[in-house]
Amino acid sequence: RAGAETRPFQAEVSRMMDIIIHSLYSNKDIFLRELISNAADALDKIRFLSLTDKKQLGEGEDAKLEIRLSIDKDKKMISLRDRGVGMTKEELVNNLGTIAKSGTSAFLEQMQKGGDLNLIGQFGVGFYSVYLVADYVEVVTKHNDDKQYVWESKADGSFAVSEDTQGERLGRGTQINIYLKESAQEYLQEDKLRDLVQRYSEFINFPILMLTTRTEEKEVPIEEEEKQAEEAAKPDDEKEEGKKAEEAKEGETVEVEDEEDEEEKKPKTKKVTETITEWKALNDNQALWLRPPGNVSDEEYSKFYKALSKSEWDTPLAHSHFKAEGDVEFKAVLFVPGYAPPDLYDNYYAKKPSMKLYVRRVFISDSFEELLPKWLSFLVGLVDSDTMPLNVSREMLQLHEGLKVIRKKLVRKAIDMIKKLADGSAKAAEELEAAQKEAGEEEAATKKDEEKGEADKAQEEEKAKQKKELEDKAGQFKKFWGSFGKSVKMGLIEDPGNRRRLLQLLRFHSSKSADKLTSLSEYVGRMKEGQKHIYYLVGTSREEVEKSPFVESLVEKGYEVLYMTDPLDEYVMQNVHEYEDREFANVSKEDLKLAEDKGSKKREKALKEEFKPLAKWWKEALGAGAVESVKVSRRLSATPCVVVASKYGWSATMERIARTQTL
Ligand code: ADP
Ligand code: MG
Repeated sequence: RAGAETRPFQAEVSRMMDIIIHSLYSNKDIFLRELISNAADALDKIRFLSLTDKKQLGEGEDAKLEIRLSIDKDKKMISLRDRGVGMTKEELVNNLGTIAKSGTSAFLEQMQKGGDLNLIGQFGVGFYSVYLVADYVEVVTKHNDDKQYVWESKADGSFAVSEDTQGERLGRGTQINIYLKESAQEYLQEDKLRDLVQRYSEFINFPILMLTTRTEEKEVPIEEEEKQAEEAAKPDDEKEEGKKAEEAKEGETVEVEDEEDEEEKKPKTKKVTETITEWKALNDNQALWLRPPGNVSDEEYSKFYKALSKSEWDTPLAHSHFKAEGDVEFKAVLFVPGYAPPDLYDNYYAKKPSMKLYVRRVFISDSFEELLPKWLSFLVGLVDSDTMPLNVSREMLQLHEGLKVIRKKLVRKAIDMIKKLADGSAKAAEELEAAQKEAGEEEAATKKDEEKGEADKAQEEEKAKQKKELEDKAGQFKKFWGSFGKSVKMGLIEDPGNRRRLLQLLRFHSSKSADKLTSLSEYVGRMKEGQKHIYYLVGTSREEVEKSPFVESLVEKGYEVLYMTDPLDEYVMQNVHEYEDREFANVSKEDLKLAEDKGSKKREKALKEEFKPLAKWWKEALGAGAVESVKVSRRLSATPCVVVASKYGWSATMERIARTQTL
C-alpha cells in the first residue's frame, strides 16, 4: 500500500510468528476461536464504555453488537467483522506487533518444549494463531477517537500500517481479512466454519452471523410472450435446452416442467433456481447461567467450563450453579478445574481470580480482586449481578458494598461445592468396598465360566461399568486434594470466619491411614477412649515422621498420629488449635501429656531424681545457649534420647522453614 509505514515486529513476536506460520500443527481450527474471542472482548469493551458514555455506542449499524463472518471464494479469503471498540493507530501498532505481551516468551518456551498450540489464548497471544491458516492478513479498524487504519503483514518479520482511505467505510469496529494458505482452503466452506463456531464459540454472548448462500427453487408465472415462445419451441427438445440456458440469468437456472399430457397441462408457471445470500445466526447466544440449573446438562457445564477456562482438554471436577436472592441478587456458576495450572502458587498474593463479573449480562471485568479471596483464586467461573449499578466506573463498582455480600456467598458456595465433592468421593469409596465384598462372596458361590449364560455376561459388564464409575468418583477428592489442597490450607490460615468449615476438608496421612488420606472426623471417630487430643507430627517426609521416636511410643500405646509433611502444615497449625472441641497436640513439643496409669507417676519421679546429675552434666557439656534444658521424659520407648522443641518455641520444621523462607 502506498504511504504505508513498515515496521519490524518485536523480536520475540517475530520468532513466534515464524513458528506459527511454519507449524505443521494439525488443529488449525483454533484460529477462529481466538479471533472470535477477540471480537467478543472488543464488543464487551464498547458496551462497557457506553454504560457511562452513551454516545460511544453510536447509532444504527454501529449500535448492533454483532460479529459477522463472510467468505470470498474468489479471493480465497474469509473476513471477520465486529462492531467492537476498534483500535486507534497507536493501539494497532502496539497490540499487534511492536510490544511483546508478557505471555510471549512463556508461550515460546512452551512451544520449544513441545507444548500444545491450542493453549495459545491462555498466553495472551491468540491473535497470531491466524497465521496457522493465513499467509497474509489485513486488520482494518476504526476506533471512535481515530480514523480508519489498516494493518497488514505476511508474517515475514514486518508489518505495515497506513490510514485506510480506499477501503469501504467501516464505521466503528474491526475487520480481519484472512487470506488463506493453499493448505487451508477448507475454511472457504460454510459448513466448516459453521461447525467450528458451534464447537468452539458456543458461549459467546453476542450474535455471530455468517453470510450464507443457498439456492432456492421458486415457481414464477410465465409471461404471455414467453408462453408463446415456449409453445413454438415445444416440439423441438434441443431448442428448449437452448432457451433454458438463455433464460438463466446470473445465479438462476430455469427448468421447464415435464409435460406428460401436452393438451391439458400448459405450464403457467416455471421453476427458477435462485441464489440467495443472507446473514444467518450461528449461535443462540442465550447465557447458560441464566437458565435454571436443572435444565443444564453435565456435558453443557463441561463445555461451558472449557470455553471459560480456554482449556479444551480439561474437565472440571465439580461445579456449582446457583441464584442468590435478597438485597444483592446474582447468579453464579463456579467450577473446580480438573488440574491446577503449574504456576498456581507462584506470586500467590499477586494472583487475580479467574472469575468474570457481569452486571445484568454486561461483562464488566475478569480481574476483580474483590470477588474472591486469594485462596480461592483457582476457581473458574462467573457472576452476573442483577442489583449492582451499571452506570458507574469500574473503580466505583470495586468499592460497592454489594461486592462484599457476593464474595461472602461465593466463598460459602465454593466450600459447599468442595465438601460435596469430598462426601461424594467418600460415599463412592464405601459403595465400592461393599460391592467388592459382595463380589468376593458371590465369586465363591457362583458357577464356573462355561455355565454362564449371555445374561450373566451382560450383567457382569454392567457391574464392571458401575465399578469404574465408582472408582472415578472415589478418586475425585484425592485428585482435588493433590491439586488444590494447599489452597484449602491457605484458606485455613487467611479466613478465620470459615475455619470450622474448612477443617472438614483437611486431609492427612496418619499412622492408621495406610495409603489413604484421613479426615479429621475420621480421626476423631477412631480416637481411644479417654483420648483428649488430636496428635500430629510435622516433618519433611512421610518416612521421616513415621520413623520418628516421637511417634513410636504413641503408636505403641494405640494412639493415632497425623503426619504433616507439607511445609504449609506448620503454618496451618499455628492458626488452628482445635477441631470440634478437641485440641491439637504436636507430639514433638515438650508438654505432651498422655493419659497415664497410676504408679508410673511415682516411678517417673524417682527416675528424674536419679538422672538429675546426668541431665545437669549434659546441659553444661553442650555449652551455653545450645539447649533450653535437658529432661527425663516418658514419651519415648525404644529410642534413648531426642531433641524437642519447647512448648512456646518454634518446632524444628518451623525453624527450617523460617531459615529458608522469603515469604
Ligand atoms: P488477548 O486477546 O489475550 O489480549 P490477542 O493476541 O488475542 O491477545 O490480542 C492482542 C490484542 O489485540 C488484544 O488485547 C486487543 O487489544 C487487540 N485486538 C485483537 N483483536 C481485536 C479486535 N477484534 N478489536 C479490537 N482489538 C483487538
Ligand atoms: Mg485474544
